[in-house]
Amino acid sequence: MKIVHYPHPSLRHPGRPLTAIDKKLNVQVGEMFELMYGARGVGLAATQVALPYQVLIMNLTVDPNQRDKEEVYINPVIVERKGSLEDEEGCLSFPGLYQKVRRAKTVMVRAYNLKGELVEVVANDLAARAWQHEIDHLNGVLFIDRLESLDQLQKVEPRPESEAVRS
Ligand SMILES: [Zn+2]
Repeated sequence: MKIVHYPHPSLRHPGRPLTAIDKKLNVQVGEMFELMYGARGVGLAATQVALPYQVLIMNLTVDPNQRDKEEVYINPVIVERKGSLEDEEGCLSFPGLYQKVRRAKTVMVRAYNLKGELVEVVANDLAARAWQHEIDHLNGVLFIDRLESLDQLQKVEPRPESEAVRS
């Protein structure tokens, strides 16, 4: 398993909803966390590792030692959006590219967790940005699709130390 980079075709294929949670999924999710920490991201969608499923992972602390902050969501859907906030954003599938993207400030999301329980999450600011970015990935949508103008899209010098949300 590896994080695929644009223009890998998996990034444009919407993930299929999962109908079962099995051991294989648990193993894959574990591997996804290792890759996400290796890339210092806050989130990672299954489509970014070429798995065609509706699964995303997050750890907003970006700290592999804080395993209790790990979150896994299956078949997530945004049910409500509020407000609007523009901020710099990066993507693990576009190394070194950071762009200002306008997103809802608050989202309410419904998803299943890894235990198969339906959960409802309200997220703000950075967390809301990560949710929207990852759910876009699961639908084959990339952050470059969200730019207000294509002039914005210029490859900048790689800035691995950027504080931008990277997911
Ligand atoms: Zn991304």
